Amino acid sequence: MSAERTVLEDQVVAEVRERRDELCDLVAQLVALDTTARQPDDPPRGEVALQGLLADRLAALGAAVDLWEPEPTGKGNRFVPDDLDFAGRPQLVATLAGAGGGRSLLLNGHIDAVDVEPRDKWSSDPFAATEREGRLYGRGVNDMKGGIAALVVALEALRAVGVALRGNVVFCTVTDEESSGAGGRAAVAHGVRADAGLCAEATDFDAWVACRGTVTPTISVEGRAGHAEMPQPHWSDGGAVNAIEKIVPVLEGVRGLREDWRRRADHRHPLLAPGDIVPVLIGGGTWIVTYPHSCALTCDITYLPGHVDAEGTGRRVEAEVESRLRAAVAADPWFAEHPLRIEWSDDVVPAEIPGDHPLVSLALDVAGSFGRAGRVAGLDSWHDAASFTRGGTPCFSFGPDGIGSAHAVDECVTVDALVDFCAAAAVTAMRWCAVAS
Ligand SMILES: [Zn+2]
Repeated sequence: MSAERTVLEDQVVAEVRERRDELCDLVAQLVALDTTARQPDDPPRGEVALQGLLADRLAALGAAVDLWEPEPTGKGNRFVPDDLDFAGRPQLVATLAGAGGGRSLLLNGHIDAVDVEPRDKWSSDPFAATEREGRLYGRGVNDMKGGIAALVVALEALRAVGVALRGNVVFCTVTDEESSGAGGRAAVAHGVRADAGLCAEATDFDAWVACRGTVTPTISVEGRAGHAEMPQPHWSDGGAVNAIEKIVPVLEGVRGLREDWRRRADHRHPLLAPGDIVPVLIGGGTWIVTYPHSCALTCDITYLPGHVDAEGTGRRVEAEVESRLRAAVAADPWFAEHPLRIEWSDDVVPAEIPGDHPLVSLALDVAGSFGRAGRVAGLDSWHDAASFTRGGTPCFSFGPDGIGSAHAVDECVTVDALVDFCAAAAVTAMRWCAVAS
């Protein structure tokens, strides 16, 4: 495929450039709707309004719109939090039917954004997207309401120029990416599929084709309460046991595991950092003059796509961590009678697609024609592309700039980059789905 653009492609690009203000206006409309990622019990916010706004824009192009609230997650699903309900948090799939004979394309984005704290540090209202010196500022402008708006305007520009695609375009926006990926998983379970797809995360025109997954253990150590200022007999004679001190060999086990993973060949990946285990929360003790009777340590574990087992889970990683941490305390007879308790929360499963997947090569080539030459890369965190890939749609992230400001005060995206991404998305759709007329 040549980087040269056709006359028709250039007409679409010109149409996108005419819509620069319209694009910024749509970003502002999305940013104004508060869709801050939820804590488990938070009420819904602007999700219905935002998905409804997108559904209306897509319906106006003739898309078949499906806006639905998934069933609550219930209990015991290892991949999603327990009892997550989607009342007031609909997922959207809007399908633009092609003329036939072309490949289908998934265009995805997540509508949730992280919170705006510390809000008083922002230079302007985080819910009022503001342009200053060529950049748009606001919560979610790059992660990832800017990308979503660009996908919508790309499809509108194609329509305005009269381009009919052969393959279907499947536009899908979901909730709950920042917390658990439950929205994307629900979309896959709902049947959202295409021949290939992209998530419009702010990758600065790189193609993130691989990511790491996450499992999260909480390791609890038991102690025995007693007066902290009174001499204690040995524990085998009923003396107090300090659970905070008992967590020390667990922490050493964690460090040993991390160093081991950094050295091991099976933790090497050309695009990703090795698996890691990082203590992130600790809590123990009840009173300033009492031996703590318990201590709990939570770790964030990232793992590579190569460590996913045949069932599509991170159970192998969990088993290794459990056996290593139990071994780390085995020398202490206290643990024979009071074993470590290890509980695991959601398994956020990683995925990867080949760096030379035809849609990846195509998108990078198109971006290059705008002077936005990106490269094949990986994301050391996680993105919804992994769920779609595991669900049968090879998917990667590809979008405008600004990831350095994601989740931060004064989150921003460069307007020129956003417009170029919008144009690149339109041309990518033309080349992938093929043009009927
Ligand atoms: Zn994101």
